[in-house]
Amino acid sequence: MPLIDTHAHLDEQSFENDFAEVLQRAAEAGLERIISVGTTVESSRTVIALSEQYPNVSAIVGIHPNYSSQAHPGDFEIIEELAKHPRVVAVGETGLDKYWDFAPIDIQREFFVRHIKLSQECRKPFVVHCRDAEPETLEVLREMAEQGSLNGVMHSFCGSANTRDACLELGMNFSVGGMVTYKKNVELREIISGIPLDRLMLETDCPYLSPIPVRGQRNEPAYVAHTAKCLGDVFGLSPVEIGNITTENARRVFSLSE
Ligand SMILES: [Zn+2]
Repeated sequence: MPLIDTHAHLDEQSFENDFAEVLQRAAEAGLERIISVGTTVESSRTVIALSEQYPNVSAIVGIHPNYSSQAHPGDFEIIEELAKHPRVVAVGETGLDKYWDFAPIDIQREFFVRHIKLSQECRKPFVVHCRDAEPETLEVLREMAEQGSLNGVMHSFCGSANTRDACLELGMNFSVGGMVTYKKNVELREIISGIPLDRLMLETDCPYLSPIPVRGQRNEPAYVAHTAKCLGDVFGLSPVEIGNITTENARRVFSLSE
């Protein structure tokens, strides 16, 4: 079945030793594309280099909210330049994270706004990381929706039904990761079942958040197939149907050519 992992961190050190095998297993699992996400200027440059080297890897460039206070002056201008690269399909990941509290919320917010502006200017979508900051994230999204239309993705979505509905209203898309497979996340599955199928995509967020039955191991793009199966159960569809639908959506949202 066709699959796309719309959110992977292929530049992480844990892939250093067996990168070729990771890509091989992804191909065997049916992945036609892996979208690798930058978290800093350096990481964004690395994912672009990977996307130049491997035809089935695309890049997203940005400064992760947890790294926003470590960014140097001029870093965001570099991201703006990198965003023009033909292998770059979106900007991010950006957003707000009050769980880790690695950066003052004002700085996170400022970077979030800049990423959305960049998305609106360069006509590439933005990818949102939201942790323990749903009302604040919605506030920024609503504010920016007044400046132009939003073309964005709520990544590894695990928000409330209210946040889901507000994001739907704003035209946002959703990508679903391994958390949906965890046994105790009954409510999350219920909330996700209310997302229209044409707004849904799959992701791993690897090397983090491995789905069941590989939970606890290093996550990798091939495991997106487990999440597809779980999402199929949520919607009463086969994994192949979910694979087809989410792949079609990812191609459209990220303007991927085959
Ligand atoms: Zn991520």
